[in-house]
Amino acid sequence: MASVPSDKFRPRCTGLASSGEDEARGAPVRDERRGGSPAEPGQANGSGLCGRNAGDRTSAFPLANWVATLVDLVRCASTRLPDDVLAALRTSSEAAEMPRAATILSAICQNADLAARNATPMCQDTGTLTFWVEHPAGISQRPIAEAVRQAVAAATARGFLRQNTILPVDGKSVADNVADGAPSIHFEEVDDGPVRIHLLLKGGGCENMSTQYSLPDASLSAGRDLAGVRACVLHAVWRAQGMGCAPGILGVCIGGDRAEGYVRAKRQLLRPLGDESPDPLLAGLEHTLLQEANSLGIGPMGLGGNTTLLGVKVAGASRLPASFFVTIAYSCWACRRQSVAIDPATGLVVEEGEVANE
Ligand code: SF4
Repeated sequence: MASVPSDKFRPRCTGLASSGEDEARGAPVRDERRGGSPAEPGQANGSGLCGRNAGDRTSAFPLANWVATLVDLVRCASTRLPDDVLAALRTSSEAAEMPRAATILSAICQNADLAARNATPMCQDTGTLTFWVEHPAGISQRPIAEAVRQAVAAATARGFLRQNTILPVDGKSVADNVADGAPSIHFEEVDDGPVRIHLLLKGGGCENMSTQYSLPDASLSAGRDLAGVRACVLHAVWRAQGMGCAPGILGVCIGGDRAEGYVRAKRQLLRPLGDESPDPLLAGLEHTLLQEANSLGIGPMGLGGNTTLLGVKVAGASRLPASFFVTIAYSCWACRRQSVAIDPATGLVVEEGEVANE
């Protein structure tokens, strides 16, 4: 997986930094409305992590600050729709030709505004949490993973996340959303700089619409070429109508093995809507697929209209000659992505940002 160069990390202004600093100083998280017990980030077992790796840059890992910063990252992701997504929804609402589509889009915008104003989750399904952590050499991953888990537990206690995790076989609920595989954390070592953490909250309804094709696919008359890729993507959009809470955003990976295809497709959902693939061929495909999907008439919530998708982001991954997978990560309108850069020495926010193309 490619790193995100610093010049591709676009600062945003959502107030995350100041809130994180407040909490780091011991102040409660703002907008605490649900009566959850005040968090004491990093208090539970913070001392156990400090000094574990003598000589490296985590020898005095400030766990409490890290947890406070990450709680705020979760809060922002859960309660604030990214500016570009909200702007696209507003534009689509104003331009909608069908009254029903306009009503749905307007209601989505109102819901997003209320969620941001009241610091409440924008959807009852607060989704699967996937963290991508990019860190320079010399940073131990285990304390960061512990900070992520403690932050998820604290954010759940405060109502920023629903108790949304259940065990795989017996279905028992996990009270703090921390369990084997939850949250999902991907680490990558990058060049020097702060630790950059990207978070995606992806709901189950749209995740159920994510899918993978293996070309050639006779049922779609899809061969091993871009025309075949196009057939797969449009079929996935068609199949998702009425489910997955359109308008959606697609992350697509062409190639890879099955596992890499899903990871890379999902990661594309971190990219802002205005971001284009650096590969002109893929950039053209992103544009064409968006236009074609929106001409299918599926519309918001599948009830008709021209706004079926808000964006399509395509990446490639090398593959074996024997395989040609096309993997599609389908996100609903609630594309809850948020990124932050953290000073590893303090655990405090350096900057907020978004992931541009890879
Ligand atoms: S698909 Fe998205 S908007 Fe629909 S219920 Fe799930 S998280 Fe919410």
